[in-house]
Amino acid sequence: MTAEQFAARHIGPEPADERRMLEAVGYGSIDELMDAAIPEVIRWHGTLDLPEPATEHDAIAELRALAARNTVAVSMIGLGYHGTHTPAVIRRNVLENPAWYTAYTPYQPEISQGRLEALLNFQTMVTDLTGLATANASMLDEGTAAAEAMTLARRASKSRSPVYVVDADALPQTVAVITSRAEPLGIDVRVLDVERDELPAEFFGLHLQYPGASGAVRDHAPLVEAAHAVGALVTVAADLLALTLLRPPGEIGADIAAGTTQRFGVPMGFGGPHAGYLAVRAGLERMLPGRLVGVSRDADGNPAYRLALQTREQHIRRERATSNICTAQVLLAVMAGMYAVYHGPDGLRAVAARTHEMAARLAAGLRAGGVAVAEVAFFDTVTATVPGRAAQVVAAAAQRGVNLRLVDADRVGVSCDETTTPAHLAAVWAAFGVDAVDGAVDAALPTGLARTSEFLTHPVFRSHHSETAMLRYLRRLSDFDYALDRGMIPLGSCTMKLNATTEMEPVSWAEFAHVHPFAPAAQTAGYREMIAQLEGWLAEVTGYDAVSVQPNAGSQGELAGLLAIRAYHRDRGEGHRDVCLIPSSAHGTNAASAVMAGMRVVVVGCDADGNVDLVDLDTKIDKHRDALAAIMVTYPSTHGVYETGIASLCAKVHDAGGQVYVDGANLNALVGFAKPGRFGADVSHLNLHKTFCIPHGGGGPGVGPVAVRAHLAPFLPGDPLGAHVDGRPAISAAPYGSAGILPIPWAYLRMMGAAGLTRATGVAVLAANYVAARLRQHYPVLYAGNKGLVAHECILDLRPLTKATGVSVDDVAKRLIDYGFHAPTMSFPVAGTLMVEPTESEDLAELDRFCDAMIAIRAEIDKVGAGEWPAGDNPLANAPHTAAMVSGDEWPHAYPRSVGAYPGGVDRAGKYWPPVRRIDGAYGDRNLVCSCPAPEAFEG
Ligand SMILES: *Cc1c(COP(=O)(O)O)cnc(C)c1O
Repeated sequence: MTAEQFAARHIGPEPADERRMLEAVGYGSIDELMDAAIPEVIRWHGTLDLPEPATEHDAIAELRALAARNTVAVSMIGLGYHGTHTPAVIRRNVLENPAWYTAYTPYQPEISQGRLEALLNFQTMVTDLTGLATANASMLDEGTAAAEAMTLARRASKSRSPVYVVDADALPQTVAVITSRAEPLGIDVRVLDVERDELPAEFFGLHLQYPGASGAVRDHAPLVEAAHAVGALVTVAADLLALTLLRPPGEIGADIAAGTTQRFGVPMGFGGPHAGYLAVRAGLERMLPGRLVGVSRDADGNPAYRLALQTREQHIRRERATSNICTAQVLLAVMAGMYAVYHGPDGLRAVAARTHEMAARLAAGLRAGGVAVAEVAFFDTVTATVPGRAAQVVAAAAQRGVNLRLVDADRVGVSCDETTTPAHLAAVWAAFGVDAVDGAVDAALPTGLARTSEFLTHPVFRSHHSETAMLRYLRRLSDFDYALDRGMIPLGSCTMKLNATTEMEPVSWAEFAHVHPFAPAAQTAGYREMIAQLEGWLAEVTGYDAVSVQPNAGSQGELAGLLAIRAYHRDRGEGHRDVCLIPSSAHGTNAASAVMAGMRVVVVGCDADGNVDLVDLDTKIDKHRDALAAIMVTYPSTHGVYETGIASLCAKVHDAGGQVYVDGANLNALVGFAKPGRFGADVSHLNLHKTFCIPHGGGGPGVGPVAVRAHLAPFLPGDPLGAHVDGRPAISAAPYGSAGILPIPWAYLRMMGAAGLTRATGVAVLAANYVAARLRQHYPVLYAGNKGLVAHECILDLRPLTKATGVSVDDVAKRLIDYGFHAPTMSFPVAGTLMVEPTESEDLAELDRFCDAMIAIRAEIDKVGAGEWPAGDNPLANAPHTAAMVSGDEWPHAYPRSVGAYPGGVDRAGKYWPPVRRIDGAYGDRNLVCSCPAPEAFEG
């Protein structure tokens, strides 16, 4: 590897370090190590067929050329995706700032107060604007948020009816996602013109769009009343910008609101990523899917934030979970929340009023020119009727650089937004052949629906309106947090590797950022080619035949893969196959996804070595042979081991007529060395935000492509606007999901090439084995495979130490903060353990710093065990230590302040200080507060 090659930058250890690490592990070379670690039955000995690696320079040049083949048009298509001005201070200091984008999901709240506060702002923004009690910390997009609202309504409704009524004026892609999710659950979706058609006698839920896809703003209160009369719940899919001017869903009695926050400063990105939202009325908060930030208190009784009600989550509830959602859209939620912070209520109202004024002027000009415009109240979108001429008008507008929505042969939709100018209006009029005179007009909002209630009254939405104030607020919050820009985040299963700057840069380019997902194909040639290349490279890496990048998280890839299996069985007349075998060690999303795909979960046990128990597998297969649909296994296992039984596991399931799903979250241990599509699996999802360098963003975005062998390819996700035509499911609202971040994995693959990727895998496995070798005598490594080796991560078993000393895995995780680290994955997949995944990107100095800290902590545990420090008052029990604590006038503790604050060799000058002490999660769950607390709460 020459320094010019990107792989040398991406991979941390240098050749001399590598030799020292190999020595510690006891192998002569990475090849020897990998030969020993990976079972020969799955080993692939070829060279990946990928283009020669490009330098960072050249990769950017190639992406520039691809980007140049996209056309950035003025987008007036609407349908839930709008032009928006991202405030530059937010773009540079959030979207392009590694302090925000390289952070992990805030499971360790003491080091995540910044993003937790930002998410609380987001939740407060959503609850205020929708007029509902509680909002979660983001959903994947509007379509999936609406689908989650449907299942929430079903859980909460007293009605036993399977019927879900959907407004015909709902966004078409939302209808597609709802329909795809409903089918396996036996929900009967009825799309009705709710203004005219009679509602069914019984139904459990009603989905309304506000304003409708046509632009019409209707008073939904009578429908809400009618739905409640039969015990149904009502979801209103509402545009948050419109809600600054219109009476919000909560004030007409809606139970749930769902939608997107894209137009709050988040670029369209050809479909994503943006933060969807979901809010509920009081009484439904404990049924809300997804992550929820709440206020609790720390060891000193000060207010502190943390994820609330975590016991609802899929990783705990598995097949009884309310949803499979795991990775969400944190980075984009932070951006949208900050857009509201920056503009404040008056600013948002002004943006909305201007947007509406543009639409009103547009409609007036069309009418004056003799074009029929629907005679309804509207906010930002008008529907014009031009009999037989719609396609012609849309084409004429495209000629002028403006995209309109072709509704049907006779109707054209035009949406205005924050970026609309008088010149755009003139172009639209010209496309309609209208010679309009622009001028002031009356508002076309329905007076009876004007918003009278206040919103965003909390001081945070009134205090940061100058750029200086905003810059400092963003800096203040990001300083609270620990992200990859501070040090290693050794989270097992999460693969927190380098997110290279070169990979990130293209995400901000206009040619990728400002493209509508339903823009004409001729305008998106660059995007389509990039995606086709990426899908091809991922197929090569995994050994599958076809890939779809539509799923916008791993969990959604799981659902897509299982739906493909389901459709395959039905296609062959074996639709009765509905049992999904899942090992007890599996990630919680697996079971939750299986239930969403209409399957019954049957758990297969693990043996004493942590491997799938092949005897139990035989038993379960025998018992369910005729009903067997699939097995879902993670490889290497979530125990971080290359199981040798995988090939025979695949064969057994296939013999019984089942399909094999390999959860590809651990692909970082396989790339270049084994291909799931070749060793017996039929389908996998990948996590591009793990193996392929999309940053975690503090809990999203992600991309979870689904990869299949040829026989499942006909059942991959389809275009949400064409889903009803070709029978494929709509997994996301946009055809290519979160397309806007696909330049990241594209650049990674393009710059690493076959040799770089393969070396990355080897170094990742070497690093995990190095950590295991150094820590083994201090903490038992729970599971190992061939020759005592682990794969790309290792589980440290703290249970014996906890039993002997009372020091818990929590204490160790929090003490690591004092040493300047993010904790490893805690208590997954085994309670009471830590799972360490160093990745290939950490250099030897950082690996050693981590191992030294863990060894020093072991010595501290021994002091507690030996009674040198009291069990209740020691540096572990009191961790993490804040600056306020160790500089307090009183120091009543049994150890010196310096031991609390500066353990081991901590860099005193560059030390990371957590802003709060240990947080009491249970207190916050008993006293649930999920919006911004009054400033007085922080006094004293
Ligand atoms: C991360 C992970 C998932 C879920 O992926 P998301 O993108 O968070 O939805 C599933 N399985 C395993 C083993 C994982 O590590």
